[in-house]
Amino acid sequence: MTRALALDAFAVILACIAALAPIPRGTIESAYANGVFAAMNRALVPVTDRVPFAVGDAEAIVVLLALVVWWVRALRRTPRRARRRAALALLAHTAGFAALGIVLFELLWGLNYRRATAVARVDYRASRVTPDAVARFSERIVAILNGDVAAAHAETLDRAKLRDAFEPVVARLGDRWDAAVTVPKTTLLEPYYEAAGIGGQYSPFSFETMLNASFLPVEVPRALAHEWSHAAGFTDEGDANYIGTLACLRSDDPLIRYSGAFWTYGDLPAAQRRRLKLDPRVVADFRASRERFLRHYQPRIFAVQWNVYDRFLRSNGVRGGVASYGFFLQLLVGTPLDAQGLPMRRVRRTPGSAGARSPT
Ligand SMILES: [Zn+2]
Repeated sequence: MTRALALDAFAVILACIAALAPIPRGTIESAYANGVFAAMNRALVPVTDRVPFAVGDAEAIVVLLALVVWWVRALRRTPRRARRRAALALLAHTAGFAALGIVLFELLWGLNYRRATAVARVDYRASRVTPDAVARFSERIVAILNGDVAAAHAETLDRAKLRDAFEPVVARLGDRWDAAVTVPKTTLLEPYYEAAGIGGQYSPFSFETMLNASFLPVEVPRALAHEWSHAAGFTDEGDANYIGTLACLRSDDPLIRYSGAFWTYGDLPAAQRRRLKLDPRVVADFRASRERFLRHYQPRIFAVQWNVYDRFLRSNGVRGGVASYGFFLQLLVGTPLDAQGLPMRRVRRTPGSAGARSPT
């Protein structure tokens, strides 16, 4: 018994080390994100892609069943008078296993939370986000919506095209490997997704992505590219939106481009949305999207879900919490693109280089 408790304590210590040990950012970037994690993505995504159901669901069911069976059998074997003590020991062992779960999470994906976010990688300058630049960007978004609406409705998503638009973006942002992209799955938690307004999720324990099955076809490409960013080792929600949107907007496919603009439109300033006229077919899409969202939406579940996720993000060092979702618009406007529609990289300025101010 004492030995078992010592093992539980050891597991908790391991979890603390995995979550808190200071590791230099350069090591995370080269040895983990572009090393161990990249190798796992390449090896495991093709495996789970081939399974027709969500492997993450199966894993969760097995773990929960094992937990229940273990507790029930252990308590049944214990004489009634000693059950209290046995339950406390079971609780300690369960905490030990949960701690091992944290270690596994960090190794399989969580260490990516320590990577530099997109803003530190691209040539973003807040001074470029002027009313004029925002107006031009808004015009571009509305032009895509109005120009592509007919063609977007006439086709179905070609994931290979989305991948072609996506991979150069994550390469530009620091992935020195071709990320294996996932086939989106529907989860058994779908009713919960719809009630809580969850669009999708990357499952680090199964290297797969789940998408809300109620999404309209025009909503899927950007939502999927967002989840692919997580699969490619970008944990920040704002980064995933930025990567997903850039990937869609640079595509030559109308449905993919439309989807990128569709998800961006709501974040444009209200004054721009009033100024720029939308095609009635685009307006109908927004109405359909809102109806879809509200069909099973439960405001209370939504509030609890986002509160929990906000805490989770903050505990993982994402300073803005869920508010980091909105920063991507500023990133889009304040970062110049090259001819391929890829963000210009930040040039490191060293003292004495051309960028540094010369002494006067
Ligand atoms: Zn996300």
